[in-house]
Amino acid sequence: MKGKEQWHKRIFGMRKNLYIGGDKIGRDDERFGPVLDVVNLTYDLAEDPQYKDLMTATSHLSGETINRFCHVHQSVDDLHKKQDMTRMICQKVGGCVRRCMGVDAINAMYTVSYEADKDRPGETAYHENFKKWLARFQEEDMMGCCAQTDVKGDRTKRPHQQPDPDSYVHVVERRSDGIVVRGCKLHISEGAIADEILVVPTRALVENDADYAVSFAVPGDWEGVKQLVTIHNFRKRDHFPKGFDAGSTDSYVVFDDVFVPWDRVFLCGEYKHGGILALLFALFHRHSYSGCKPALGDLMLGICALAANVNGIGRAKHVTDKYADLIKVTELGYAAGYTASAMAKPEMYIPGLGMRPYGPGNYIPNSIYCNVGRCLTGESVLHELEILADITGGMPATFPYEGEFINPEVKDLACKYTTRCQDISPESQAQLWRYIGDVAVSSKSGCAMFGAIHGGGSPRMEKIGITSQYDIETCKQLVRDIAGMKD
Ligand SMILES: Cc1cc2nc3c(=O)[nH]c(=O)nc-3n(C[C@H](O)[C@H](O)[C@H](O)COP(=O)(O)OP(=O)(O)OC[C@H]3O[C@@H](n4cnc5c(N)ncnc54)[C@H](O)[C@@H]3O)c2cc1C
Repeated sequence: MKGKEQWHKRIFGMRKNLYIGGDKIGRDDERFGPVLDVVNLTYDLAEDPQYKDLMTATSHLSGETINRFCHVHQSVDDLHKKQDMTRMICQKVGGCVRRCMGVDAINAMYTVSYEADKDRPGETAYHENFKKWLARFQEEDMMGCCAQTDVKGDRTKRPHQQPDPDSYVHVVERRSDGIVVRGCKLHISEGAIADEILVVPTRALVENDADYAVSFAVPGDWEGVKQLVTIHNFRKRDHFPKGFDAGSTDSYVVFDDVFVPWDRVFLCGEYKHGGILALLFALFHRHSYSGCKPALGDLMLGICALAANVNGIGRAKHVTDKYADLIKVTELGYAAGYTASAMAKPEMYIPGLGMRPYGPGNYIPNSIYCNVGRCLTGESVLHELEILADITGGMPATFPYEGEFINPEVKDLACKYTTRCQDISPESQAQLWRYIGDVAVSSKSGCAMFGAIHGGGSPRMEKIGITSQYDIETCKQLVRDIAGMKD
């Protein structure tokens, strides 16, 4: 494991290809500080003996100890540990861990590249190339991101039917030494600070979409790659710092006729596998949500319970009922992910065929449990905010700025009129309200809410995953038997 200093060195040395607010910036721009701090923790904890078991794994390629965010899951235990690692880090940073997209993409690409090679035996070497790429990724302890979501144009049309052929990333030229790709991937979390951008298709594909069945990995500053970046930081604290200040970024990653050499291409034209790769990344990613969403539930419960204490309503029945609502969703989300890990096998659901052995032996979490857990927790996000707003009252929305708490003319007044409870110091009460403002009434919290609903696919896509794979026919037969129906 190389650690965060090496990662910083690599990304700070990258070509400037990040566009933000009219400027072109490097990865060393100070606005990246809060998101770097989140990812730094994924490196630091891996070196901490207390977290070694969760944070590291043994590479099945090299036998070396590697960061778990670079690992291809080899067992049920690996998946349990990924879930617990994710929950643990999210609890510490108060939000998304920012490195899960990379590990989920690695697992999907590793699996599908193996199967795609079977289509034209001897003609393609996707899997061997991916393994070589992965060995370096693991050795260097790289930070990856996943670029899946395309522009998509008219949602009712397939990629090849779009008026603008660039609505989905596609191959525009095949050469002896590689391919040229064009298009744009949207909302790509941490594309700006990733060593490598892992590209996978968005959706199911048909034969005419073959040029859209493309998967590859390129460095974040690769020739022809331009990133239009948004940085999501909380309002800066000048006087009353928080325990942890987390940031995040998202990019529109533009592939402006980008050349990708064959050894970085892991799928090119195998349209059936393109659709499966889209499904499989989403599956691994929904499993990651069974770690992060419970952590957010833990934090939401803590926030609500502290706000209720400050307001003196901690024992009110309508408040404790709300705690139960939060705990139910949190632990059901966790339980779904746990079950998905426990039932993991080297097999996956192939549309039209059902469950089939799939990949070279790595472990794939159970799809039904990944989808029900993700869907339940994602759809609960707005309800959880409603609970929070009910318990807090209006305070987080209008809490005075920090400056009022240090201005000699009004600081005592600000303190007196924002204090509600005698058991907690006025300073701590103020810190709580400021934090709730960050969590619920900031531009970053708005962005996080959209991510919580759509990350890993819209709720509809999860429901399609659930209902298309669940054995509804058997349920109907149970009723026919009991009801005494003959047909
Ligand atoms: C903060 C944030 C971070 C993200 N990070 C990443 C990332 O790191 N990598 C990445 O690849 N993606 C990322 N995403 C993208 C995310 O996966 C997508 O937002 C999600 O898949 C939904 O896609 P969309 O935004 O294009 O919305 P759409 O798919 O357009 O969904 C909008 C609505 O249209 C409906 N719809 C779509 N198609 C059809 C159809 N054919 N028929 C009927 N209804 C339809 C949907 O069900 C939904 O109700 C991120 C998103 C957010 C908000």
